[in-house]
Amino acid sequence: MDIAIVGAGIAGIATAYELAQDGHRVTVYEQHNAAAEGASFANAGWLTPTLLQPWSTPGWTLPLRQQLRGKHALLEAPGPWLGHNWRWLRRWKAAERQCQTQGLHNPAASALEQLSAFSQVLRHDISAAHELSTESHQSHLVLLRSTQDMQSMQPLLQALGTLDVRAQLLPADAVRAVEPGLSPEAPLAGALHLPEGETINCRQWTQQLRQLALQRGVQLQSNATVRSVQSVGKQVHLLLEGDSAAHLHDAVVVCTGASPALLDCSGLRLPLMPVHGYTISAPLRDPCYAPQAAALDWAQQLVISRIGQRLRISGGAELGTAPDAYNQDTLARMYRTLNDWYPGAAQLSSPQVQIWRGTRGTLPDGLPLLGRTTQSGIWFNLGHGAHGAALANGCARILADQIAGRDVPTEVQALSPLRFEP
Ligand SMILES: Cc1cc2nc3c(=O)[nH]c(=O)nc-3n(C[C@H](O)[C@H](O)[C@H](O)COP(=O)(O)OP(=O)(O)OC[C@H]3O[C@@H](n4cnc5c(N)ncnc54)[C@H](O)[C@@H]3O)c2cc1C
Repeated sequence: MDIAIVGAGIAGIATAYELAQDGHRVTVYEQHNAAAEGASFANAGWLTPTLLQPWSTPGWTLPLRQQLRGKHALLEAPGPWLGHNWRWLRRWKAAERQCQTQGLHNPAASALEQLSAFSQVLRHDISAAHELSTESHQSHLVLLRSTQDMQSMQPLLQALGTLDVRAQLLPADAVRAVEPGLSPEAPLAGALHLPEGETINCRQWTQQLRQLALQRGVQLQSNATVRSVQSVGKQVHLLLEGDSAAHLHDAVVVCTGASPALLDCSGLRLPLMPVHGYTISAPLRDPCYAPQAAALDWAQQLVISRIGQRLRISGGAELGTAPDAYNQDTLARMYRTLNDWYPGAAQLSSPQVQIWRGTRGTLPDGLPLLGRTTQSGIWFNLGHGAHGAALANGCARILADQIAGRDVPTEVQALSPLRFEP
């Protein structure tokens, strides 16, 4: 088949790679002049387990009311708090309640965890076959500041056990043995340790996959903004900004991340919410004082990870339209938290410090949109929220199987874009 992909982030590039592996003729259209210029550019790169990613599955990280309340609320809505934002948050809240009632049998959480595990197997296979390395680090710590936080981990620990994720609650002195760079003054009660957790450089992984895709004949058209996608008979018409004639393809896969621009071409009303977040990346000062593993500050919902010779802190959640200016309170909280745990680890006044804002396209149930739409030949692979890097290879393989008419696991139905149909 002749298949077009819209978007050259990690989702679009991984999809192009898998479709080319299946022998399709693939063209990727990207509005920027390079791949991985959107959310895949400088994210935290936390891969597993997805359940712990800040602002991931409703109900598994801090309850919504805790994130919204008080002077130091972690979740913000810079636009008006009326209408659209509230309606969406009510749906997220309903999903949170459902997650908590269903506990260990929560289908959304288990679908995500399985998909993420499948993704990592594929990524490891591709990396090994082509001798690629993505500045990856193994082991995650969820840093807990109080005994109350330690106790609150029990249901999560049980859930992770059920999902076959290795995890252990460690007291403070054992945590310091795993992570010697932690400040001795840090307010640490203990941590959840996940020895198999992994972090990568998502941009580098996207670039490497892009190279492999090009070698398999994929065409990448950059500076090409897709204005519309329309199913006409047995073909799909794709119109680029500035063109008057449409490009014709047998199928189109929309991989536009958080962008709502092409959602309507699905024939569905989809509640995709942009959730903006930040990362600060700085060169390491002394690797001895830097994190060996990725660390998530549970109370602050911030991830500190090591990406090659840099240290990266990631977090913040702003719903809806992004204001022009970066949120200085969030950035100050990120610097403070980094200083709490790893003072002096990074060269924060270096000219190489990079402050970045990216957008997670998030559905109210925390799951991506993967699969066919109501329009013949138009497929979606987008809205991966806080775990697009973790799910990319698995989603791409499943979509390629669906397009080829091969069987896919039944759990994948939970991700169908059609699930929002009344
Ligand atoms: C602060 C932050 C931290 C994060 N941390 C993690 C993490 O630790 N682990 C994890 O797994 N995920 C994380 N994520 C989420 C992850 O970054 C995203 O889920 C993932 O990058 C999405 O990939 P994508 O390809 O779908 O979207 P993108 O990378 O945004 O790519 C979409 C592409 O589509 C293009 N596009 C859009 N519209 C058009 C159009 N009309 N025509 C042509 N091109 C178009 C865009 O230019 C863009 O290049 C984080 C996100 C943020 C913001």
